[in-house]
Amino acid sequence: MNGMIAMAYLFSAVMFILSLGGLSSHETARRGNIYGMVGMAVAIIATIAGITSGAYWMVIIAMVVGAAIGLSLAKRVAMTQMPQMVALLHSFVGLAAVLIGWGGFLDPRVNLHGSAHVVHSTEIYLGVFIGAITLTGSLVAFCKLQGLVSGRPLMLPARHWLNLIAILACIVLGVLFVPAQVNAATTLNLLVMTAIALLLGIHLVAAIGGADMPVVISMLNSYSGWAAAATGFMLGNDLLIVVGALVGSSGAILSYIMCRGMNRSFISVILGGFGSDGGEVSDEEVDGEAIAIDQQELADDLKAADSIIIVPGFGMAVAHAQQAVSDLTDRLRGMGKTVRFGIHPVAGRLPGHMNVLLAEANVPYDIVLEMDEINSDFPSTDLVLVIGANDTVNPDAVEKPGSPIAGMPVLEVWKARRVVVLKRSMASGYAGVANPLFYKENARMLFGDAKDSLQGVLGKVCD
Ligand code: NDP
Repeated sequence: MNGMIAMAYLFSAVMFILSLGGLSSHETARRGNIYGMVGMAVAIIATIAGITSGAYWMVIIAMVVGAAIGLSLAKRVAMTQMPQMVALLHSFVGLAAVLIGWGGFLDPRVNLHGSAHVVHSTEIYLGVFIGAITLTGSLVAFCKLQGLVSGRPLMLPARHWLNLIAILACIVLGVLFVPAQVNAATTLNLLVMTAIALLLGIHLVAAIGGADMPVVISMLNSYSGWAAAATGFMLGNDLLIVVGALVGSSGAILSYIMCRGMNRSFISVILGGFGSDGGEVSDEEVDGEAIAIDQQELADDLKAADSIIIVPGFGMAVAHAQQAVSDLTDRLRGMGKTVRFGIHPVAGRLPGHMNVLLAEANVPYDIVLEMDEINSDFPSTDLVLVIGANDTVNPDAVEKPGSPIAGMPVLEVWKARRVVVLKRSMASGYAGVANPLFYKENARMLFGDAKDSLQGVLGKVCD
């Protein structure tokens, strides 16, 4: 039986690696998901088959309750709420690591000595530490993304010293905890470390500003992977170790890529904004007057333009405007115009958010370009349509050194001959920073819900 389970775990591990490979491009993403589902199904069956205590009923009850909650949540959660959902799921992984660590520590059947005891205690200590940080960090991220707490960074005085003291305290407690046998003092050490790690998780994420949240989400994804790997060590489950390491390292690579895309220091973000001033949010007034146009004027601009770039953002997701965007694109291409899309790495609220929505609306992949591929083409473009994007097209990022989003590369849409921004009001984006793009001489505003505006414009383009 053990041999069969090991084979099944090996098969699942290979499926998960193929899944990650598949998820790296649009064309193979669907296949990647299928590999992942097959791998997980085999892993669950093999794990249940390996239960030696005979407590199947417990597993079945847990699975039925979990599946019911998961199904009802998945049905109700809108695509725009996925980041919160992902943050919440990460917190469950953290909670599991903490509970399993404590369970392993308090288990009266465990009676290890010498190096076996040291290994066991180290697994417990690290598992609880990473799990506790992941748990509260993810809950704070959830609250920020859900709007339950402000997205502004929490700037406590001497906050880096607080982090350093907390980490040093956990190291000292760990040195005391690991070699000692279970007694009142070791229980207290573990308890104090758990409390410190829970507070550290809150503080690390609370100190990060709104515009840096994408990196935090992928970083917590990475932490949740390491928490799962630690759980795998505690439970002696090889597959959980492999899967945790895959999630942990792919999350770390994604965080690194996002940091590069946003010109942020990776170390600074994982240490709760170390070395930055936290990017104070300022919604200061911008001088100038924004010029509003109506749907007919935009339709006329589109008819007159030869080259068009569409830049979608979070507002396209809120308005569910992707199908209207796709219909307008088809129509304009049918009229012989060059239409392409420019996608910012952190547009929307999830890595790849815009790509998923455009793929869902059957926009051809070959006209959807990444920021680096399209940024130099704006000066030779007749018309840019900014659909519900804001922070990712804010000129202050490159033109105003003191801005909270300074240094973040953006789509330089203002360099085109004409830019039309579709949004409902003059409100700022997720980072809470005013956008001077709206006041540029070549910029026009088409106010209203993006889907309604685009459907109206499509009708007028066809007239
Ligand atoms: P923003 O969040 O900066 O702006 C979205 C804009 O959409 C708003 O200004 C809003 O203006 C407009 N909008 C909202 N609803 C509608 C609607 N129904 N119709 C038309 N417009 C609408 O979007 P971006 O995509 O440019 O930037 C993403 C931001 O989110 C960045 O700051 C990024 O750092 C952050 N982020 C990204 C994550 C990721 O992984 N991608 C994760 C977490 C945060 P109005 O209200 O006036 O309509």
